[in-house]
Amino acid sequence: MARRMVANPELVKTYTTLFVNRRAYTLQSKRPHPESGRHHYYRPKDRESGGPLLLTDKTIADHLDGKITIALYAINPQNQRCKWVAIDADYARAMDDLIKLQYQLTQDRVESALEMSKRGGHLWIFLAVPLLARKCRIYIYDLAQKLGVPVKGSGLAEGIEVFPKHDEIQEGAFGNAIRGPLGIHRGAKRRFWFYGADYRLDAQLRFLMCLRKLTEEELDRFTVGKDLPPSVAKARSEAEPVSRNAVGGNRRGFCILDYVSETRVVGRNYVARCPSCALAGRDRGRDNLAILVSDQRFYQCWAGCTKEMIRAAVGRPIPIRNTA
Ligand SMILES: [Zn+2]
Repeated sequence: MARRMVANPELVKTYTTLFVNRRAYTLQSKRPHPESGRHHYYRPKDRESGGPLLLTDKTIADHLDGKITIALYAINPQNQRCKWVAIDADYARAMDDLIKLQYQLTQDRVESALEMSKRGGHLWIFLAVPLLARKCRIYIYDLAQKLGVPVKGSGLAEGIEVFPKHDEIQEGAFGNAIRGPLGIHRGAKRRFWFYGADYRLDAQLRFLMCLRKLTEEELDRFTVGKDLPPSVAKARSEAEPVSRNAVGGNRRGFCILDYVSETRVVGRNYVARCPSCALAGRDRGRDNLAILVSDQRFYQCWAGCTKEMIRAAVGRPIPIRNTA
């Protein structure tokens, strides 16, 4: 079979409709990392301006043609909504669990598509209009819990991972990206197809377009009165410290994020255990310190520790100005 396929403008448009919720993306490196041997993803930059590259029709065509491999972000930070939900599973019984989830979804009349992956699969659900990430997550975690499907992070090393991985993300933040379907995985050097349609780009995309899309009314109904299971809400904050480079990678000078762990995003802030409180054995709830996501120089302890106390507690006291 010819590997190079021609991604015509119509296929690119369909792909965009299905998968692209924001124009930020990551690119899979063509060469494996010398130590890990893995093909990592990075955010590509414009050679001249140094600014981040944004997805264009050309990028998507190149992805579909197998020249590059992109990964896509789930959440649009402007509305905290997603166009799709993807459930990633790559452990021993991954496929069994994805098929269980797929069957359970059909009980709600929700159609999904199962994509093969390097070690397991991705189960995709498409949404009629972009829907709140938080509600999508509540719905899937609720299903998983009912079925006894393990969720990675909730005290378990192996289990499903749900994209979107966050309830919401801040302006300027990205969340987590998942490999864009129908490209060529640089490591596996092959395409991974969806079950249920011929192994051709046009047939695959047509199949996905024809799936019934989950509506807002349905998602509201499925999630009414529900919240994330406490194990998930808690596990997330512990398993995934917020990327320290999320805000432009600016690490000049003192950065409080270098001195706290288990940060999580709540509203406009990172929340963490206050180092000064911790020194006194307080703040076991790990939520006294709020750090403004958009500017990490601004942080505050709700128990009243001063900046001086916090800086002293982390061993980086604020230099005292010599007025003499
Ligand atoms: Zn404090």
